[in-house]
Amino acid sequence: MRQTKRLEHIGALLVVGSGKGGVGKSTVSVNLAVALARQGHSVGLLDGDAYGPSIPMMLGVRKRTPGKEGQAYLPLAERQELPIEKKLKPLLRYGIKIMSVGFFIGEEQAVAPMPDALGLLIRQLLYSVDWGALDYLIIDLPPGTSEPQATLCREISLDGAVLVTTPQDIARIDTSKALAMFQAAKVPVLGVVQNMDGLLCPHCGEQVEIFPRSQEARVLLDDLTLLGRIPLDPAAVVSGDKGYPIIVSMPDSPVARAFIDAAEQVTVALAAKRAEHSASSTEPAVEQPEEQERPGDDEAAEER
Ligand code: ADP
Repeated sequence: MRQTKRLEHIGALLVVGSGKGGVGKSTVSVNLAVALARQGHSVGLLDGDAYGPSIPMMLGVRKRTPGKEGQAYLPLAERQELPIEKKLKPLLRYGIKIMSVGFFIGEEQAVAPMPDALGLLIRQLLYSVDWGALDYLIIDLPPGTSEPQATLCREISLDGAVLVTTPQDIARIDTSKALAMFQAAKVPVLGVVQNMDGLLCPHCGEQVEIFPRSQEARVLLDDLTLLGRIPLDPAAVVSGDKGYPIIVSMPDSPVARAFIDAAEQVTVALAAKRAEHSASSTEPAVEQPEEQERPGDDEAAEER
């Protein structure tokens, strides 16, 4: 079995994943990163979605015009750490270090790497960016269970996965698949954030159920720690589109408070997983009793 590699100087490498697109995974990644930074941690955020990088827009660092040749060139060769002088500098926004494929291409340009190249691309961004020492590096993954998830799980030591879902069964089925993938790769799953959990009415502030809540039991998913329930608030969309995470623009709103609580739950779940892991790796090996001949063994062997 291939050994996964730990990234140097990164306290915890976390991934945020979902089975489906549009459930608010990038919104959760951004607000989680900003919330952790506001709790005093040093935080980096890597946009792992090369096909649809939305982190630049959500953080207000957009590149509207295409590159000079109209085509982006992203060499994919480095497997190891680069010397510091050759590393790319991440952008700094709201106290977090960010890197995205969206910084190299105009926001209406597309990159079309083969799925296999997505794994190489993310690995390269992990190694070629000058992240410095961080408490948390968060990777916002594309939806689904193929690349770059497979490369990351195979090659890099991930400290925790946060799953994002919405209450409907169709999203929960796909989230269960993402969960199964992380579990098969032995990535500690910290829990699930249930986003768009009821609508906060902009007029009266009442919580309204707009999506039918799944009544189906999903055994694996139901067993996960619920890290938070984030209501749907139209103000969150406006804020995100303008480049202000809701934690920054409306820190006292119910949605921002739910994100702050979820970030705290992530740190608690990570500490619990680590304690669980170190307890299991320091457990004394159970001594096997020496094989002793039992009366009657000979006859039993002869009969066989
Ligand atoms: P994903 O990364 O899963 O594709 P995004 O984070 O890009 O999803 O979110 C999709 C859209 O939903 C964005 O316009 C975003 O602003 C909006 N959104 C996400 N979470 C919420 C929420 N809790 N309330 C309102 N809008 C939200």
